[in-house]
Amino acid sequence: MGRNIATEQTMPLPPLSERHVDPHSYPDGVAFFDGQYLPMSQAKISVLDWGFLHSDATYDTVHVWDGRFFRLDLHLDRFFGGLQKLRMAIPLDRDGVAEILHNCVALSGHRAAYVEMLCTRGASPTFSRDPRQAINRFMAFAVPFGSVANAEQLRRGLNVAVSDKVRIPPASIDPSIKNYHWLDLVRGLYDAYDRGAETALILDFNGNVAEGPGFNVFCVKDGKLSTPAIGVLPGITRRTVFDLCSEAGLSATAADVSVAALKAADEVFITSTAGGIMPVTVIDGIPVADGKVGAITSRLMALYWQRHEDPAWSSPVSYT
Ligand code: PLP
Repeated sequence: MGRNIATEQTMPLPPLSERHVDPHSYPDGVAFFDGQYLPMSQAKISVLDWGFLHSDATYDTVHVWDGRFFRLDLHLDRFFGGLQKLRMAIPLDRDGVAEILHNCVALSGHRAAYVEMLCTRGASPTFSRDPRQAINRFMAFAVPFGSVANAEQLRRGLNVAVSDKVRIPPASIDPSIKNYHWLDLVRGLYDAYDRGAETALILDFNGNVAEGPGFNVFCVKDGKLSTPAIGVLPGITRRTVFDLCSEAGLSATAADVSVAALKAADEVFITSTAGGIMPVTVIDGIPVADGKVGAITSRLMALYWQRHEDPAWSSPVSYT
């Protein structure tokens, strides 16, 4: 058994009374809303919008790094796929959405940005219960880039807990529709905090590892990579890891990953547009292998960020 280093690595938040946070303050950024570009603080939706009342919405998040969008085409594919599967319609094609995203980033001036496009079911003027009567609402925004893992966690690896919460099954919600059904993930996150960890992984309906709040997971065993196949969002960063592995001659497969296999791995990392490839070095209080960031993880992290300059995978924002 390794030593329990969970509690050594987490910093408790100060009590609410000591946090001087203005509930009306928002990150600095620009939103596109009802045909206008607005400061983030002015981008507000009605409480009658089904996106809020029923989580009836789809979205996608792409990032801009060093003034360039990364794999924007793949994010647009996934967003338009979600719209179609949810039977939502927006008065914009891919080029129209791409132009709005570019404008949000350019107007914000952010060279490292978290850029979201989203569509809610909207509301109907009569408060009808028929979703066909709702007027779908497209919105977009650009705020500063954010990461699941902070700089220290990227250097030493994240401390993760495996929660017994079960990710909403794909028979209920098709996970390829990127969605805000996060109650399972948020409950998993609280389980993780209660156990002194920094973030959580939750399970699929068969008890295997699924994903975490905003990320996919990979493990490496004997030089081969695997990531959960079912019940997870097909992440663009996950897809990028497959692409990088195929270029680097590494084996990567999507398959069931049991909790035992995860804990017995040589290396573990998580993937998200919010942070890229991020190492995990502690699971349920026990170090992964020797508890250090692994060689394959480090190599993929370097390749991932290098490819942000490659015109085949990235496109510049025009800030003028
Ligand atoms: N899984 C979930 C539930 C997510 O919300 C996300 C991203 O927000 C991911 C995985 C990672 O996907 P991507 O790499 O496309 O950011």
